[in-house]
Amino acid sequence: MDDKIQKLYDNLYDKGACLIAFSDVSGVQQAKGFPYAITIGYKLNDYILQGIDDKPTYEYFHHYRTVNACLDQLALYCQTYIQRLRYTSYMIPASQSSDSDRYAGAFPHKTAAVLSGSGWIGKSGLFVTPRWGSKIRLATVLTDYPLGVTNSPIFSGCGECNECVKACPAGAIVGKEYVSGQPRDTILDAEKCSRYMKEHFQNIGRGSVCGICIAVCPYNHLK
Ligand code: SF4
Ligand code: SF4
Repeated sequence: MDDKIQKLYDNLYDKGACLIAFSDVSGVQQAKGFPYAITIGYKLNDYILQGIDDKPTYEYFHHYRTVNACLDQLALYCQTYIQRLRYTSYMIPASQSSDSDRYAGAFPHKTAAVLSGSGWIGKSGLFVTPRWGSKIRLATVLTDYPLGVTNSPIFSGCGECNECVKACPAGAIVGKEYVSGQPRDTILDAEKCSRYMKEHFQNIGRGSVCGICIAVCPYNHLK
């Protein structure tokens, strides 16, 4: 990491990011020709997540939106910082559906995060890290700044665990390990998940959050 990127790293960390990771995304179709990605992760609050049982809470809905807004600010800062170094950068917001798939963003945050070697895509379809479990939300900044990183993804740590599969009230989680390059619907029925949230949690979080599969993941309870 050169001095300029070290400074960016330190500033993002000081502003609240728990994860700042780099990857080579030159082989990723949605990367729009950018060779590198900077993944920014923000850890969700333990106390608020503990309040989730068989439904989300108002506190979780507010926290979810606040964290997304904070991630967008961090990504905007990162985008500007790189631009001032006279390189091109393009931020992907934490939560913004694309035109072609309303259950996916313009660029898959989890793909870059996995390529950075920081974690894996769990059976839940969530990004899971050894350190923070799935209690982490992501934003991405694509760039041509010569980060010079190579990818070293880690193996899935889900193993025999099926906690999220058993807990999902929508039956949306298939229960298979994710295989890189496979479509998301091999592990998760996003339409089922969304429909359940709309039908059952409309009064909490306008039917757009749930959090049950996050709350039960054993990696989230490691100290
Ligand atoms: S968010 Fe809720 S409904 Fe959707 S997959 Fe997770 S547990 Fe199931
Ligand atoms: S609950 Fe278990 S199976 Fe689901 S993502 Fe977490 S570790 Fe993987």
